[in-house]
Amino acid sequence: MKKVVLATRNLGKIHEFDRLLREFAEDITVLGLADFPDMPDVEETGTTLTENALLKSKAVAAFTSLPALADDSGLFVNALGGDPGIFSARWSGEHGNDLANTAKVLRQMEELANSEPELDRSASFRCAIALSFPDGHRLAGQDFVEMGEMSGEIIDAPRGDKGFGYDPIFIPTGLTLTSAEIDAQQKDEISHRGRAMRRIAPILVDLL
Ligand code: IMP
Repeated sequence: MKKVVLATRNLGKIHEFDRLLREFAEDITVLGLADFPDMPDVEETGTTLTENALLKSKAVAAFTSLPALADDSGLFVNALGGDPGIFSARWSGEHGNDLANTAKVLRQMEELANSEPELDRSASFRCAIALSFPDGHRLAGQDFVEMGEMSGEIIDAPRGDKGFGYDPIFIPTGLTLTSAEIDAQQKDEISHRGRAMRRIAPILVDLL
């Protein structure tokens, strides 16, 4: 069995990627950071999603001596000059507080809408997935990155209780429901993460 480590402790992400890889190959085992409890946290000091994903994939490949995949994602709101962007997970100051992060974006949009009635509400979720190889691997030192994007609009009050993060305030282009009102499978088909994963999966299968 070939192995790859996904740089996350989130079992949901591991199952999602595992499911997706099955469409491309049967003989790959997807591990997660729970399998490497001594792996130190990697600081996301990059200035782009790609840099942050690469920081994580390289560190995990080095620590585990296995090929490693890492993702980094965020919401980019045009009227906010691309914020919260790479700071999406900690936009309100508290890492991972989805409600506070969402409330802050809504407040910022409301302030702008007060002076600009025709406010541009367009935004997109973006995801970078990086793949790195450990020392000794024939591809050591070569990294691969794939991006995925889901464009849409920010609404002015949250709707829906599926998904996570900014899903309740985001309507994907072409839909009337927020990404917190559609089911997970439908979101996977159109999401930034689903798209990036479907791009990196065949590369991974070829190179492992
Ligand atoms: P990270 O990729 O785990 O660093 O987290 C990025 C942050 O972006 C998350 O905490 C969410 O706030 C936001 N985000 C990324 N993808 C999504 C999504 O599909 N729906 C809603 N929020 C998302």
